[in-house]
Amino acid sequence: MKIICVGRNYVDHIAELNNERPEAPVLFIKPDTALLSKEFPFVIPDFSQDIHYEAEVVVKINKVGKYIEPKFAHKYYDQLSIGIDFTARDLQSKLKEKGLPWEKAKAFDNSAFVGDFLPKTTVASMEEISFSLMQNGSVVQQATTAQMIWKVDELIAEISKYFTLKTGDLIFTGTPAGVGKVNPGDLLTGFFGEEKVFDLIVK
Ligand code: ZN
Repeated sequence: MKIICVGRNYVDHIAELNNERPEAPVLFIKPDTALLSKEFPFVIPDFSQDIHYEAEVVVKINKVGKYIEPKFAHKYYDQLSIGIDFTARDLQSKLKEKGLPWEKAKAFDNSAFVGDFLPKTTVASMEEISFSLMQNGSVVQQATTAQMIWKVDELIAEISKYFTLKTGDLIFTGTPAGVGKVNPGDLLTGFFGEEKVFDLIVK
């Protein structure tokens, strides 16, 4: 199982990090060792002083696919949730400056967390999913998938040109504005629409 992540998919988040708007989706992969088990807290690793949360809509792939056309992409997933793409922002900034790969900043152990999955049938449209993240009871990120530059089905088409999708793979579809630092003792709470899909403690 692998985790495919999309970078720079919301205009307001591109602006907050002073990034350029890409011509095509920015993709990167986290290995299966990046997935944080639900029984554990997120422990801040000692190689970073600036770990950020990035709340994202997560899609779980339910069959093998390659060169999937956008119009058929909806047949490749039936479960959705909200997850956090934990990012060592200090390390990522250094790597970006040098033009080096982001893996150490993005794909480290336990850097991917996903809440409870909900069936796709609970949403009226993939392009109108609202979601939010609370940090210690205050809303820090709030968006809808209508704000995505590339919609989920377009992302699946693009991703599957390069990477065969397999059952159980997870796609993190990019984060909106409001990313920020986590601190020991934080409680992060994720909402898919009105539904709470996780509580995660930071240590
Ligand atoms: Zn992200």
